[in-house]
Amino acid sequence: MAVVPQMQHSIESSISNIDVYEGDTETIIKHGENISVCAKFHIEIYGCQMNVYDAQRIAELLQFCGFEKAKCHEDADILIFYTCNIREKAAARLFSNINIFKNQKTKVVAVGGCVVQAEKENMFRHKAINIVFGPQVYHKLPEYIMDVINGKRDRIMDVGMPQMEKFKAIPVKQNVSYSEFVTIQEGCNNFCTYCIVPYTRGPECSRPAIDILHETKHLVENGAQEITLLGQNVNSYHGEAAYLGIGGKKTWDITRLLYEVAKILGIRRLRYVTSHPKDFNKELMTAHREIDVLVPFVHIPLQSGSNKILRLMNRGHTVEEYLDKLAMFRDIAPNIQFSSDFIVGFPQETDEDLQATIDAARMADYSFSYAFKYSPRKKTPASRMQDQIPEEEKEVRLAKLYAVLQESQLKYNQSIVGTIQETLFEKEGRRENQYVGKNVYLQSIVVEADESPIGKFMNVKITKATQNSVFGEIIQ
Ligand code: SF4
Repeated sequence: MAVVPQMQHSIESSISNIDVYEGDTETIIKHGENISVCAKFHIEIYGCQMNVYDAQRIAELLQFCGFEKAKCHEDADILIFYTCNIREKAAARLFSNINIFKNQKTKVVAVGGCVVQAEKENMFRHKAINIVFGPQVYHKLPEYIMDVINGKRDRIMDVGMPQMEKFKAIPVKQNVSYSEFVTIQEGCNNFCTYCIVPYTRGPECSRPAIDILHETKHLVENGAQEITLLGQNVNSYHGEAAYLGIGGKKTWDITRLLYEVAKILGIRRLRYVTSHPKDFNKELMTAHREIDVLVPFVHIPLQSGSNKILRLMNRGHTVEEYLDKLAMFRDIAPNIQFSSDFIVGFPQETDEDLQATIDAARMADYSFSYAFKYSPRKKTPASRMQDQIPEEEKEVRLAKLYAVLQESQLKYNQSIVGTIQETLFEKEGRRENQYVGKNVYLQSIVVEADESPIGKFMNVKITKATQNSVFGEIIQ
């Protein structure tokens, strides 16, 4: 059973005494029972950070149940494709990838993720697919795989949405990295008119605070130094906390959660992603000033700088309200930096609307941003709107906006030349002895070093800035 201790005193003292949350063993065994074969699996992941997180949990669960990770896809008995629905024609791309990856050895093909929740039984158009599973039921995958291997069933579809059940059924993570994600909420009630998430991940649902604290503590004790709290709408988090028995409100919001997670000894950086502008309040902004380990950086998607388009998108705020929030944030936490997402070529967008977006991006002064062409998703209201913009026009508008976003990024990069940036190193660079890390603002920093700094925090003196990267020398 899950370990849920009675907490009597303050959370800081309680958390140092709790056992690591090990998942609901009964449920894990139920979903993995009768696994006697040593079949090898390979997972192909396409999509956002949430998909990467889900796929890692699936891999851990399968290994816990006795399956083995294949060295490569050619060596796998079980092929799992976990993919999002953000890209146009996601199902067609998936089908073509199945054809590429499948071989004589393949016994089971399972497909999961948001694309499945959107397409459901249509996925079986591809004859090789045995299992179709939605993002809320991946904990049942071991059971379904065994049913196919044992010949009990040939085709299985489960696109149920038993929210949060999966978290109880997943074992504790074994291979902990220096930088880890912890899901704190899933789903969304905002129904932006272009977005498929509310249909694929279901309504907004927050994990209980104690589960988040347990998982984070386990990750940190096993080597994680950077923790990112993850969700479709993290800053509307409202997790159950009544049974913690430490007084105060029965439900914690994101601000309270951040204060408590930050108390776990060993965390050096705390982040959260993705946020909605309407859910930022003064308390959350103040937390960025008061919590040492909480990074002074927030991703706040604006999407469009035109109030007409924001209304059509059902974003629930105006551009003025958004810019006021950024100004308030900067007043409260002066070292804060922002990034954003933009969609260009939304239905009915005019040149004036695009100009409004360009003006807003200039005013917001982001350290970097992402911009995408609008791409209609089946079932969403925006896909049925009149006056869709032609692809070629979207390309032109994207290039115009990008030029402005790049100016901002270069300006930020140049502003840190000569400063010292604490950098967490993540990977090797393109050249020999070159390594790439990220500062607190998620900016890529490149250094040369004889010894690999990967997985370590280093102070770096910045010497040069380009559009996409900054370069420096390790001074510690
Ligand atoms: S808030 Fe984000 S996840 Fe929710 S509908 Fe809008 S874009 Fe999608």
